[in-house]
Amino acid sequence: MSPCAHLMDITARPDLVFVEGRGSWLTDQTGKRYLDFMQGWAVNTLGHSPPALVTALIRQASQLINCSPAFYNVPMIELADMLCHASALDQVFFTNSGAEANEGAIKLARKWGALHKGGAHRLVTLDGGFHGRTLATMAASGKPQWQALFEPKVTGFDKVPPNDIDAVSRAIRPDTVAVMVEPIQGEAGVISMTDDYLRALRALTRAHGLLLILDEIQTGIGRTGKMFGFEHAGIAPDIMTLAKGLGGGVPLGALLATHAASCFVHGDQGGTFCGNPLMTALGVAMLREVMKPGFLEHVTAMGDALTEGLTALAARHGFGSVRGRGLLLALDLKAEIGPSIVAAARDAGLLINAPKPNCLRFMPALNVTADEIGMMLDLLNQIICGMKP
Ligand SMILES: *Cc1c(COP(=O)(O)O)cnc(C)c1O
Repeated sequence: MSPCAHLMDITARPDLVFVEGRGSWLTDQTGKRYLDFMQGWAVNTLGHSPPALVTALIRQASQLINCSPAFYNVPMIELADMLCHASALDQVFFTNSGAEANEGAIKLARKWGALHKGGAHRLVTLDGGFHGRTLATMAASGKPQWQALFEPKVTGFDKVPPNDIDAVSRAIRPDTVAVMVEPIQGEAGVISMTDDYLRALRALTRAHGLLLILDEIQTGIGRTGKMFGFEHAGIAPDIMTLAKGLGGGVPLGALLATHAASCFVHGDQGGTFCGNPLMTALGVAMLREVMKPGFLEHVTAMGDALTEGLTALAARHGFGSVRGRGLLLALDLKAEIGPSIVAAARDAGLLINAPKPNCLRFMPALNVTADEIGMMLDLLNQIICGMKP
């Protein structure tokens, strides 16, 4: 029996009800504890209920929760300044989710095309890409399972395979306005764009006068060991979207653009909750933690430790390679055993994810410790040994 018949059945939830979280640990209604290497889908940058967020939440809630998006508020201004300073982009629009940020990016690109490129409005996006679940962002995504859903689609998206710069060249038409990609495709199974490919995309979009839109919703805010994924390639986008890790667990997204690309005028964009002080105050608290000296170095060191441990585990059990960067990693299982490992792991008190049946994804808190990584690897090894016939 499902714990609740009054929730729309939109995913196969296990019969567990969670009641508490602390750092890398979650507790269910029966008191059972779970080591969490999903962290709300790469969302809880500092783990569950980190003191920095709890303090900021209580302070801001008692001061000002919402004053309308038509007015300035202090945390909104502070977070916009911090994000622009960190990214070298110029202006921000805050959203409540990643899909809403990407929807805004698509609108901004179309607006820019209307103003500066004779009405060009098409976007080149990638096979396997994931940009959200609104009608436009589903159309922008390259998930094969979505192709037949919710017809008719929002039009104007041309899909090409990842890491193929010639395919992007061929897909560019006179009415193309932008190319939109994720530096690492998380939902597709942690498929990295190479630094060379991102640099080539930057050069190609410049040569054609197109906007480069980076969806950093999963890769941004330190996840790969740099503040933003694009820093590894030494490039800069015209438009970038953030969400997931930006709020550290609360609904907060951002659409950022250069001065040249930031062309919305009054009435083009908005949203009742956009930029509310409660959520933006948490964004400020999050960024302050991630910007502390040594934080990103810790992410890189823990990413290396996890990669090393998973590589050894793979050698022991005949799995494939470890993919990804920083603390967004996947292990190629070389067989479609991901869902059964995930289920056995959950029973054993470990939460991991299989974005595809043939791989496991690891997205722990960025302040995860070496001990927790060691514990996770031990548990995973026991689980896999226990599953062998
Ligand atoms: C999660 C995700 C989204 C969608 O964000 P939501 O907050 O779920 O709307 C978009 N793009 C990428 C790369 C994501 O990982």
